[in-house]
Parts: sequence; C-alpha cells; structure tokens
Amino acid sequence: MGSEDSESSSTEKGESSLDIETHSSADVFETLGSETRIEILEALGNPPGEKMSFTELYKAVEIDDSGNFAYHLNRVLGTFVLKEDEQYLLSHAGEQVVGSVQAGTYQAKATVEPAAFGGTCQLCGGELIFEYTQERVRVYCDECGAGRSFPFPPGCLPDYDIEELPAVSARWYRTHVKRVLDRFCPLCAGEMSGELIHGVNEDSDPPEPSLARFSCITCGKQVHLTGATIATFHPVFEGFLFEHGFDTRCGPHSEVWAALDDTTETTHTRDPLSIEVTFTHDGETVTGFVEEDASLTNVERQW
Ligand SMILES: [Zn+2]
Ligand SMILES: [Zn+2]
Repeated sequence: MGSEDSESSSTEKGESSLDIETHSSADVFETLGSETRIEILEALGNPPGEKMSFTELYKAVEIDDSGNFAYHLNRVLGTFVLKEDEQYLLSHAGEQVVGSVQAGTYQAKATVEPAAFGGTCQLCGGELIFEYTQERVRVYCDECGAGRSFPFPPGCLPDYDIEELPAVSARWYRTHVKRVLDRFCPLCAGEMSGELIHGVNEDSDPPEPSLARFSCITCGKQVHLTGATIATFHPVFEGFLFEHGFDTRCGPHSEVWAALDDTTETTHTRDPLSIEVTFTHDGETVTGFVEEDASLTNVERQW
C-alpha cells in the first residue's frame, strides 16, 4: 500500500460497477485509538445492522460536546461507519471490529487446564485430552500425542460449561474447516489455494496421515488439514456418517473415525499425488480422492 492517505482504483467508467477505494492500514487503525470512536462503533453494533441518526448516536455515546462528537464520527466515516439517507451504520470492517471486541479477541485471557473428556484416539485407542491455552484449543492423545490445535475465541468460553467445551470446540472446528474447504480465508475472507504436501506414511508407527496445505492468496494465512479431515466434511461423507448415527457436530471427528467399522486413508497415486479415503460401516462404504489441489473428487457411496 502506498504512503498517500488513500488511493483509489477503479476501471474505466461504464465498464464495471466495481469501485474500490483503499486506505493506508496504519491510518485506518489509528482511527481506532480513541475511546469515543470505539463507543460509536459499539453503539452501532448493538445489534449489528442497527441504523442510527446523528442525534440518536450522539445520545448513545458519552460525550458532552456535539462538535467534538462530529469530529470523532467523521474520523471513522467511510472505513468503519457508513452513512445512508442521514442514518449511520457499521461497515463490514466496523462489524468485524465490534465482533472481535465481543469475541474477547483483544481483552480476554482464558485457560482451561488439560483434562480427559471421554474421547478415544483413532490411532492408538489412548485417552484424548482437551486443553485451552494461548487462545487455542488442543485436543490430543495422552498416549501417542497425535491431535490437533486450532484458534478458538476466548470470549466464547464463559458461555459454556467446561464439560460442553469439547463438543462446542468440535462445532467451531467444523465451521472453521468448512470455511477453508469452501476456499475462504478464516482471517481475511480472501481466496485460498490448496495443495497436497505429502501422502500417507505407512512406515511410521502409527502411520502418519496425509497432509494438505491451504494458503490465502491475499494474506498468506496457512491452514493444514489431513486427507481424512477433508473427506469427513464433504457433504456426501457427512451424509453417510449422519445416516449411520454419527453427527460431526457433536464431538471431535477423530472419535467418529474410531467408531466406524473401518476408516482407511491410503496414497492412491504418487505422481500426481492423490489420496484415497474410505469409510466403511454396516456393510456400506463411501470413498473419495483428495487430489493435488486438495479438492475431493469421485466421491461415491456403495452398498
Ligand atoms: Zn493415540
Ligand atoms: Zn487471508
């Protein structure tokens, strides 16, 4: 981004209706460095989508001087606040700021001490442990150490009992994975590209699962998922699981794998790399292939 205060880019008139104005990030974030401006965003964000007139907004914010108030409102106008027909409302970025404040992203410090919750490791049958620290959930096997770790907003924690957290975090993880599989960056909503980085290593004990990397084209954020995880959250696989009594919204999906009659992940071809994932239960199978670009193809159910 340039050093100017703002820059705009748009195509020739008449060619397209897309008109994007960009501002320097430092300037934009500098405008958040004021109690009054944060109060303006919070007033408009309660509930999000709320439209308020100048007078209503002025009354909602603790400030004595309307001239001073107008100055602060003006500072966030066009970036975090929009004006429509003499009414003010939050922009998408404004909603994100208020959402992050509500999620406790900036203020909350929370930890949940490591504890077993009744889950079993799909690799070795060991006990699964739940832990929350540094704003990340960790679910891992006490015996072999296999597991996963993902960010979870600290502001969510007080809403739930400790015993609920493994299932709550499983639902959160499912949402996170689905967003990535739909190729939206969890941070910036930019497009994500996918790439299988290695196949199943059957020589290691327990076998090391395949791994795919999803990278955001815009911000560079990376998310790593195994081939079996990519398959699990595909609609046909989820339907198969659901019809056999396994709901991926109720607990860690590795528990579902352990409960199935058979879960296999094998390297199907090495060049180009592709991974075959098969779930079998009650005489029925579902199969899919994770390709080089981490997409799942040729998904099929067989009785
Ligand atoms: Zn284990
Ligand atoms: Zn991104």
